[in-house]
Amino acid sequence: MLQNSLVDEYLRLVASVKSHVEEQIALGIRATPVSESSGAGDEDGPAAPIAYESMEEIRAAVESCQACPLHETRTNTVPGAGNENARLVFVGEAPGADEDRQGVPFVGRAGQKLTQIIEAIGLSRSEVYIANVLKCRPPGNRNPLPEEVQACEPYLIAQLQLIKPRVICALGAFAAQTLLRTDQRISRLRGQFHAYHGIKLMPTYHPAFLLRNPRAKRDVWEDVQKVKAEHDRE
Ligand code: URA
Repeated sequence: MLQNSLVDEYLRLVASVKSHVEEQIALGIRATPVSESSGAGDEDGPAAPIAYESMEEIRAAVESCQACPLHETRTNTVPGAGNENARLVFVGEAPGADEDRQGVPFVGRAGQKLTQIIEAIGLSRSEVYIANVLKCRPPGNRNPLPEEVQACEPYLIAQLQLIKPRVICALGAFAAQTLLRTDQRISRLRGQFHAYHGIKLMPTYHPAFLLRNPRAKRDVWEDVQKVKAEHDRE
């Protein structure tokens, strides 16, 4: 009798661990929380914690992060900026030189373009939230490496879990492909909403691409009109 109830208890435990792990995987979480006192965390740096109470906690964790080699070359971390209750979050690739210098996302030339786009749909930077997949600048603005994304993405996921926006606009192929776990081209992805854990996600061209290809303006305009309509929907 006692043995049967122990077996039942064991099976219940296994089922609940399995469902927890499946939920975490569905959220794209691949790192497990490590408390400092656990003694875990090695030369590769600690795994990023996944449950944060506030954006301030995320900011503090990013500022002290050494989970990938980019911490050795950064001037400042660039955790994100804007309204923590925003209905709309823009996600870019990684900080560039200007962002690295100031610790604020999208403040260089591409950032000015993004500000124009935000204002063109009747919003301001302080009404939306702006973040990147990577929180530190890759040297020479090279493309982020898979291990950097793996180390850093939990921070973005935590930010999105806290903000719970109604709509996400992924800026450029890198952000769109990373969030949607696809290698489809941005020209195919853009223009329609995709599901990102229950949140509508619109991929569009990166503002830096727009600077080089002004003819893409019309497509971006169409995309952000859809984003704004979703933002405004009751
Ligand atoms: N490009 C990005 O993707 N992010 C920034 O913050 C700046 C430029």
